[in-house]
Amino acid sequence: MSLHDIARQERRRRTTGEPPLTVSTRPPSFAERTGQARRLWVARWLVMFGGVTMTLGAYKARAASADTWLFVLLAGVGICVVGIIAQCLSIRCPRCHVAVVWHTYTHAKAGAAEKLASFQVACPNCGYEPANAGDGERM
Ligand SMILES: [Zn+2]
Repeated sequence: MSLHDIARQERRRRTTGEPPLTVSTRPPSFAERTGQARRLWVARWLVMFGGVTMTLGAYKARAASADTWLFVLLAGVGICVVGIIAQCLSIRCPRCHVAVVWHTYTHAKAGAAEKLASFQVACPNCGYEPANAGDGERM
């Protein structure tokens, strides 16, 4: 698509009142539609925080007071494990109660599972597709 085409689209957009091109057109994910997106967000931050803690512990464990930093390293591993388990089990389908992220990780192709787990719009087990954010049962 050339710049000329983009400019033409932008002119048409302005005259028809369509949303700007920069607005994301991604439909709300299953977790967002069922009101469970915060759980996934918290679990992923736990994994990242655990990873940083683990890396810091591993880096500093070589220096003096290695026992303390070894404890930090193990705490980071523990935080990561808790985050991964929470990520896998926290998003549930309101209809069939399957753990949606775990089901995706165990049934989808390895390269596509992470993206699918974040952006799928329907339950991979029963196909339930909540209409809008907050329409699903709160769990
Ligand atoms: Zn389901």
